[in-house]
Amino acid sequence: MYEGIVQELIDELGRLPGVGPKSAQRIAFHIVQTESYDPTRLSEVLAEVRDKVRFCQQCGNVAEGELCSICRDPRRVPSVICVVEEAKDVVAIERTREFRGLYHVLGGAISPIDGIGPDQLRITQLVQRLADGTVTEVIIATDPNLEGEATATYLSRLLIQPGLRVSRLASGLPVGGDLEYADEVTLGRAFEGRRVVEH
Ligand SMILES: [Zn+2]
Repeated sequence: MYEGIVQELIDELGRLPGVGPKSAQRIAFHIVQTESYDPTRLSEVLAEVRDKVRFCQQCGNVAEGELCSICRDPRRVPSVICVVEEAKDVVAIERTREFRGLYHVLGGAISPIDGIGPDQLRITQLVQRLADGTVTEVIIATDPNLEGEATATYLSRLLIQPGLRVSRLASGLPVGGDLEYADEVTLGRAFEGRRVVEH
């Protein structure tokens, strides 16, 4: 334990995901010791981000207005929707440059242990987006782990309807991992080799 404010900083940093006690300590001491580092910018951005950043009304991706930059882009193909768990998966798929359609961010995956069922995810919004028949293909790109598989199975059953192709990413992604950790080549291949879900 350090005294007062330094320990408070370490505790606060440690509350962030992915920051263990050692990293929190390292960051705290960097801020304290490095004279050239100006923490003002960080505090400004932190204060602004909550205020400015919204979630896209259409797809649930991170946005600074009503719609995210992808939904606003007229060059994107509106007949294909790729369903992902989190906004960070959108970034991972965009990096592959394999996909030109739109996205739908669920906000997580079905996980009974964590008390997350279909109602906690943006599934109703997805079904609504399919109502007018514009969308002819849904690509399910949930994480290659237990929760992601459960979500994909649930969705592929739910979305069965005439005129809609439902496909899933090809296998080959590291099992048990997060989509965001797959390298671009592997993820790109999984996209190209996506297979239609058999009913
Ligand atoms: Zn959007």
